[in-house]
Amino acid sequence: MYIPALRFFFVGFILFLFSCSNKIQQENRIVVTIEVQRYFAERLAHPFFEVETMVAPGTSPESYDPTPQQMVRLAKSSAYFGIGPLGFERAWLDKLKQNNPKVRFFDNSKGISFIASESHHHGADESGIDPHIWTSPRNVLIIVQNMYEALTAIDPQNESVYRENLKDLRNEIIQTGEMVQALLNRSSQKAFVVYHPALAYFAQDYGLKQYPIEVDGKEPSPEQLKELVDLVKREKVKTVFIQQEFDRKNAEIIARETNCKLVVINPLSYNWKEEIIRIAEKLPDE
Ligand SMILES: [Zn+2]
Repeated sequence: MYIPALRFFFVGFILFLFSCSNKIQQENRIVVTIEVQRYFAERLAHPFFEVETMVAPGTSPESYDPTPQQMVRLAKSSAYFGIGPLGFERAWLDKLKQNNPKVRFFDNSKGISFIASESHHHGADESGIDPHIWTSPRNVLIIVQNMYEALTAIDPQNESVYRENLKDLRNEIIQTGEMVQALLNRSSQKAFVVYHPALAYFAQDYGLKQYPIEVDGKEPSPEQLKELVDLVKREKVKTVFIQQEFDRKNAEIIARETNCKLVVINPLSYNWKEEIIRIAEKLPDE
């Protein structure tokens, strides 16, 4: 039986036990919010820290709740790397900070210029900020710089290793960005449709237009869907992106009525590089 209040109580109780104990030994572990961060953090922190993700793959970073086991692991970790205005962090970060005074918290989104969210579901405390910052290679360079600075703050002794790791990782990110640009140069597509608007920063980097199907985190009305179908025809859009976690019925209607290709993407994937290149590949030549 699932009783949310009871579960919350249980998590709180475990945290209470841990905060009463001074015997916690911090382990060489960094906890991050999403899988994409783990990809970069593992590369940078190698070989000194292991990295674990809070929001389990296949679940929504807007509404995820940590498990009691994750709470215990976090209490014994060295640091937590946040990614900014995601639903999970708005709901949980303050509690996590309060309950884990020995864990150092860092914000990987520091210094990024946010863009206003386009019909994004943000729950009760609407932030109005688009949280999907990691779909832009330019932003990822800022994210990994922040990670590097956090690592040198918690482990200054190994600064030279982190600096080398950062150099390699930056090269890979810059190359990935150039590959995306080269792919898009071959494409006449300057716009795409996406069910959940997770690609605004990607679109901004490469001068593309993102048309979301979702309206304020909800399915569109029949009128809104019809408007979008007309727009897609007018702008000769060829690709509709969908994500596993979201509805595909409306995307299928649009693809059918406009002859668009339906492409499943996973912008939260651990394999950041492959995924972003794949997205660019799916914007075809005319
Ligand atoms: Zn989202």
